[in-house]
Amino acid sequence: MKTPLNADLHCHSTFSDGLMSPTAVVERAANNGVDLLALTDHDELAGLPEAREAARATGVAFVDGVEISISWLDQSVHIVGLAVDPASAMLAAGLAAVREGRDTRARRIGDELARIGIEGAYEGAASYAENPSLIGRAHFARYLVSIGVARDTQQVFDNYLVRGKPGFVDHEWATLDQAVEWIHNAGGLAVVAHPGRYRFSKAEMSGLFERFAELGGDGVEVVTSSHTRAQVLEYARVARRYGFLASRASDFHGPGESQFDLGRGPSLPPDLTPVWERLPVS
Ligand code: AMP
Ligand code: MN
Ligand code: MN
Ligand code: MN
Repeated sequence: MKTPLNADLHCHSTFSDGLMSPTAVVERAANNGVDLLALTDHDELAGLPEAREAARATGVAFVDGVEISISWLDQSVHIVGLAVDPASAMLAAGLAAVREGRDTRARRIGDELARIGIEGAYEGAASYAENPSLIGRAHFARYLVSIGVARDTQQVFDNYLVRGKPGFVDHEWATLDQAVEWIHNAGGLAVVAHPGRYRFSKAEMSGLFERFAELGGDGVEVVTSSHTRAQVLEYARVARRYGFLASRASDFHGPGESQFDLGRGPSLPPDLTPVWERLPVS
C-alpha cells in the first residue's frame, strides 16, 4: 500500500507569532518527515522566500501560504490561502491594510492593560515580535508571562486576552468576502482554518460555511492540532456536505506550543479529497 503523503499546510514563523525562523521551521518539518509544507504566517507574506529556499535545500515540497484574519459576526475567524502568488498586488495591498489595523489594535490592548496596572505592555509585546508590523496577542501573552503576571501563555489568554477579559479589544479585521477574493485573485485556494475553535452557534457556523461556499471557498481544515477527535469527524461531515476539500495541518507556532508537532497529526478520513490534490506543488 502506498504511504499517504505527509502534508502540513498551516504553520507559523517569526514573521508572525511563531517562535522559529522560516528556515528552522522547514528544517524541523523535514526532520519530522513532512513531504509537503505550507508556511502560513498571519497577514504576512514576507517569510515565504526564505522558507521556499530552505525547502529547496532540504527537499521538502513547498506551498506559499498565508493566514488572513477576518471578522465574522462578532468573532475573529482565520482563512488560510494556499498556493497564493506572493507577487499579487491585490493580496499584498489587502494584507498591508490588515497589518495597519493590527498595530492600532495592539496599542489599544496596551492601553487596556495599563488601566488594570500593567504598564508598558505594547512595548513589551513589541519586543517579542521580530516583525514590528505583526504584533499579536501571542506576543502580549509571552511578555505577560515574562513579567510574572501568569504562569503560561494559555493562562494569559484565559485571564486577559479573550472576550470579556480586561485586555480584550474588539477589532474589525478584513471581511470573509475580501479574504476569499484576495486569495483567489492571487491564484490560491481558500481554506477555513481550525473551525472547531470558533464559538458560534450551530446556525452561525452554518452561515459561515454557506457564505464561504457561495463565494467559491475551497476547503476546510479537518485535521488541525486544536481539534479533538470528535471535531475531526464533525468537520469531515462539513467537508462532505459542502463539497469542500479537506486540509491537514499542525498550526505549529513553536516546540510544545501546539497539541502536535509539524507533520505529526492524524491522517484525514480516507473518503475526503485532500486539498493538496488541487495544489500546484513546486
Ligand atoms: P491575534 O491574531 O493577535 O488575535 O492572535 C491570535 C493568535 O493567538 C493565534 O494564532 C494563536 O497563536 C494565539 N491564540 C489565540 N487564542 C489562543 C488561546 N486561547 N490560547 C493560546 N493561544 C491562543
Ligand atoms: Mn498564531
Ligand atoms: Mn489561526
Ligand atoms: Mn495559525
